[in-house]
Amino acid sequence: MKGINCNIIKDILPLYVDGVVSDDTKEMVEEHLDRCEECKKEVGLMKQELYIPAEKEASIIKKFKRKWRNKKLIISVVSILLTGLILFGTFAFIFHYDRVVPYTESLIKIETQDDDMLVSHYYGVDYYSVSATHPKTLKIDGKEKNVIFLYYTETIANSPSKKLINRKENRDERDYIFPLDNKENVDAIYYVQFDTRKIFNNGNDWSTLLEDAILIWGK
Ligand SMILES: [Zn+2]
Repeated sequence: MKGINCNIIKDILPLYVDGVVSDDTKEMVEEHLDRCEECKKEVGLMKQELYIPAEKEASIIKKFKRKWRNKKLIISVVSILLTGLILFGTFAFIFHYDRVVPYTESLIKIETQDDDMLVSHYYGVDYYSVSATHPKTLKIDGKEKNVIFLYYTETIANSPSKKLINRKENRDERDYIFPLDNKENVDAIYYVQFDTRKIFNNGNDWSTLLEDAILIWGK
């Protein structure tokens, strides 16, 4: 392999430095480098040139990867939070978004217990809440009457699902009986939704409720 021209070696050197030459070529180049200081210097320079940018590049990639990892982490955390929020919202909606149970005679009955106690008896499968006022003295048709306002609410959850849990044999009827007041303190019971705070802010005038109220019990 004598007489190989430096120019030919220099043409091959980039490939040699990259380590992509065949064993024969590698041998040939190394033989030449043993004898040629100039080409050896060239290799030294090439290696330096190659390695420094390579390291820089690597660190840029690392930085980018780290940044991307952080970004991915943020994305994951945000999506977990969002999922949680949506689940919580759905849960809250299903279990706590209550609406007024429409009154029917067979569903809600006013009964007397222990001879003098008025109670409201719920015959439906389940309800979410029951609200009743103490007797309010209102003028109805020119007469003063002691009136109780009453309403039940239900949620999406407590109609079908509780049906399975509260099968009739497990039902404790006492859970469906809500005590109101002594019979002698009450003249009438009306079914209507009310907002105590709103009424209080409107000068505590309960008579406005009568417009939409259904009379469900009276003396
Ligand atoms: Zn040479």
